[in-house]
Amino acid sequence: MNLNQRRTLAAAAAAIAAVGGAAVALAPAAHAAPACQVTYQGNPWQGGFTANVRITAGAQAINGWTLTWTYAGDQRITSGWNATVSQSGATVTATNLAWNGNIAPGGSAEFGVQGTWASANPTPTAFTLNGVSCNEPGPTPSSSSPSGSSSPSASASPSTSGSTGPNPGGCGSAALCDGFENQAGGTPAGSWGVVYPNCSGTGTATVDTSVARSGGKSVRVNGGAGYCNHVFVRSTADLSAIGRVWYGRFYVRHTTALPATHVTFAAMRDAADSGKDLRVGGQNGALQWNRESDDATLPEQSPTGVSLSRPLTTGVWTCVEYRVDGNAGQLQTWIDGALVSGLVVDGTPTRDIDSQWLNRANWRPNLTDLRFGWESYGNDADTLWFDDVALGASRIGC
Ligand code: CA
Repeated sequence: MNLNQRRTLAAAAAAIAAVGGAAVALAPAAHAAPACQVTYQGNPWQGGFTANVRITAGAQAINGWTLTWTYAGDQRITSGWNATVSQSGATVTATNLAWNGNIAPGGSAEFGVQGTWASANPTPTAFTLNGVSCNEPGPTPSSSSPSGSSSPSASASPSTSGSTGPNPGGCGSAALCDGFENQAGGTPAGSWGVVYPNCSGTGTATVDTSVARSGGKSVRVNGGAGYCNHVFVRSTADLSAIGRVWYGRFYVRHTTALPATHVTFAAMRDAADSGKDLRVGGQNGALQWNRESDDATLPEQSPTGVSLSRPLTTGVWTCVEYRVDGNAGQLQTWIDGALVSGLVVDGTPTRDIDSQWLNRANWRPNLTDLRFGWESYGNDADTLWFDDVALGASRIGC
């Protein structure tokens, strides 16, 4: 189901909700077992924030949900996605759409909000779902600081690199730092161009104002199945000043899990490899690197190799970081800040990881561009979003 279909269903659900009102109540639990757990992961910056909210059902299914919480600071919701969100005073109410109202026992649904704040932005910890209190969310990643107004990324000054817009992820001294907030039209332009290497088909890349990790915009890629339905946005920046060691950071949000067959969603041209691409994508359901020139993969696509990488969660923003060292011929990859052992080229061939990669003696990439998009070598389509991309000579962080 694509987003438009979902929106159509959402509109239908809104109509139903208008008739049904608050009739969607959770059945009273026979025991005092937790009915739900809610996590709230904020991504703040000075004056604004987005937050991903995940509802996880307890032992009973949830059939329709209305979640409320109260902000302790002066947060004001300006928009939401994957839920109908409203705010009255400090209290926020979020109601499911048609397609995500039913949560199986132990299953979860996720939605997001965007808002503003001025004096304080503490993370809410108390949630009520259909009138029932949910558990405390427990420890959350460092990006949702309970201290509120002065989380590390919120305290960072807005982007200093000019017209790149809000920069909640923090880019440090990165040469490229873009949250796509300065994109004025529906088609990526200026710092980015839409490219269709080799051939073009149904794939599209657009500036999306309904889904964003930061601010109000991201790049949405409708990636089609089949090789010629590929599409990419390509940075127009001069990246030569970064040198031979590249640290990249981007956030990607997939609709569909990484497939069994090979796909690419980020690529960099390697001038030291006859201009062929160094690719980031997936195969056998997990993240992988691929070298276009000889089709080497990292990790090796053995069951053990695949198990040393990770799938990417759908419907959430995932932070992908990498280091490509063209001097030493090394590569590291982090997902949400954690090094992935199967996605490391350390110069010493390791079975199931980088021994195939190092079949090429003296691999010394010289990267010259940066692209995000979709390329399927099988029959796999996806709708995916990119936001808060950065590239520099030192690690940028999530
Ligand atoms: Ca953005």
